[in-house]
Amino acid sequence: MTTTIHTTWDRDSILVGGDWIPVTDCTEVHDPATESVIGRSASAGIAHVDAAVAAARSAGTAWGTSSPEDRAEILDALCTQLRARRQLLVDTTVAEVGAPVTVAEEAHIDLGIEILASYARLARDLPFRERLGRTLLLRRPAGVVACITPWNYPFYQLAAKVGAALAAGCTTVVKPAELTPLSTYLFADAAIDAGLPAGVLNLVPGSGRTVGAALTAHPGVDVVSFTGSTAVGRGVAHAAAESLTRACLELGGKSASVVLGDAPLPAAVTATVDAAMLNSGQTCSAWTRLLVPRTRYEDAVELAAGHAGTLRVGDPRDRATQLGPVISAAQRRSIAEAVDAAVAGGARLAAGGSGMPADLETGHYLRPTVLADVGPHDPIVRDEIFGPVLVVLPHDGDDDAIRLANDSDYGLGGAVWSADPERALGVAARMDTGQVDINGAPFNPEAPFGGWKSSGLGRELGRFGVEEFTELTAVQR
Ligand code: NAD
Repeated sequence: MTTTIHTTWDRDSILVGGDWIPVTDCTEVHDPATESVIGRSASAGIAHVDAAVAAARSAGTAWGTSSPEDRAEILDALCTQLRARRQLLVDTTVAEVGAPVTVAEEAHIDLGIEILASYARLARDLPFRERLGRTLLLRRPAGVVACITPWNYPFYQLAAKVGAALAAGCTTVVKPAELTPLSTYLFADAAIDAGLPAGVLNLVPGSGRTVGAALTAHPGVDVVSFTGSTAVGRGVAHAAAESLTRACLELGGKSASVVLGDAPLPAAVTATVDAAMLNSGQTCSAWTRLLVPRTRYEDAVELAAGHAGTLRVGDPRDRATQLGPVISAAQRRSIAEAVDAAVAGGARLAAGGSGMPADLETGHYLRPTVLADVGPHDPIVRDEIFGPVLVVLPHDGDDDAIRLANDSDYGLGGAVWSADPERALGVAARMDTGQVDINGAPFNPEAPFGGWKSSGLGRELGRFGVEEFTELTAVQR
């Protein structure tokens, strides 16, 4: 295994069948903190998509019949290669996403590599052949997987998709978000150095409307694994339905953190604020609705606002920074407009607001914002804002809290806080959502992750993520 680390952020090529092919169209990549150009990425066209899918199909026969142990070894080697690039991956994530360096380290890169390592273990452990009475059940690779990723956690999302696909024996065509393609190039470099056979991972950066849409509708693609907004996800599902291509969709969220009457309020509220503001508020499963007992409402608003006010916003390269900029000027504008509209509609601004932090002039920054006195039908309570914005609503007991939590188009994450673990579990079991954390339990990278309702279809991570990329053949004997 050799390690050749390409440190440049000037990447004008696509990866097809193991070859880097230069393309004439490129797009600039910007740093959301400095607003300056930091690099370039190739922008592929339809013909490149066709070539990448053909390469993935032709590599599929050998990779799909390789042993799970061989695939596990390559995944382990990929982890080794990525660890050798950890600092570069962190620097790249800080630069292209604007993620604070400590968040880039833990939540983007280390967690992404941990997830890949878990897929290596699963490739070894999963029953790809299983007896069911007289039947031999074969769990076989589904074929070519198109992996379309968003800008908020580009490396982590890529690891979650590609790791599962490779473990299952599928080949991949990857399309990163236009705003954040650079860490995906580093992933591809690492895959080559790890000895991944040519064509098993192909990389075609480019626009969603061109490359993304072409992949989604491509007859050579067997599964589309898409993470992004609910609006685009709906279009992906339509396009995939035309050819009955399986679509795994990880979409938006508006998750509730439910504080029950017996919960320790300060711990529950501060943890909820931290979760809402993680990655500068750009996390799909963030707890952006805080539901607290009506009798403790004012205390909760004060605690939330007080804690939000202590969070340090600024240069993402400073280790003391807790919130960096949001991804773009357009995203900043849309968040600020949503906050202004809520305040104009009667919401109380308890912390933050739509303006820039006083000490910052450049960069797409916002202050952590807490809004109170909002109603369950207000757009700020129903819509995914995808920025550092938390709303606080009162509830009148456990049943009412569950009703409010479930009164959402989304169902991705959630939390319950109580001094009584059984009571908390009773509430969690009635929340219509993909994951619920009780009393701040840590993230489990092998637990299924995905959504109910408009939050998506299917599950990522762990064995559930691998199974999304397999087909079943039941052999009767
Ligand atoms: P987006 O939907 O704009 O884009 C996501 C990806 O889809 C990008 O690569 C984009 O180029 C591509 N795309 C755009 N149009 C397309 C089309 N017509 N056909 C195929 N692909 C197309 O989302 P975004 O703004 O990059 O990401 C933010 C959104 O992602 C938020 O809504 C967030 O909640 C969601 N998200 C969900 C999860 C999850 O696991 N559920 C995780 C992270 C982000």
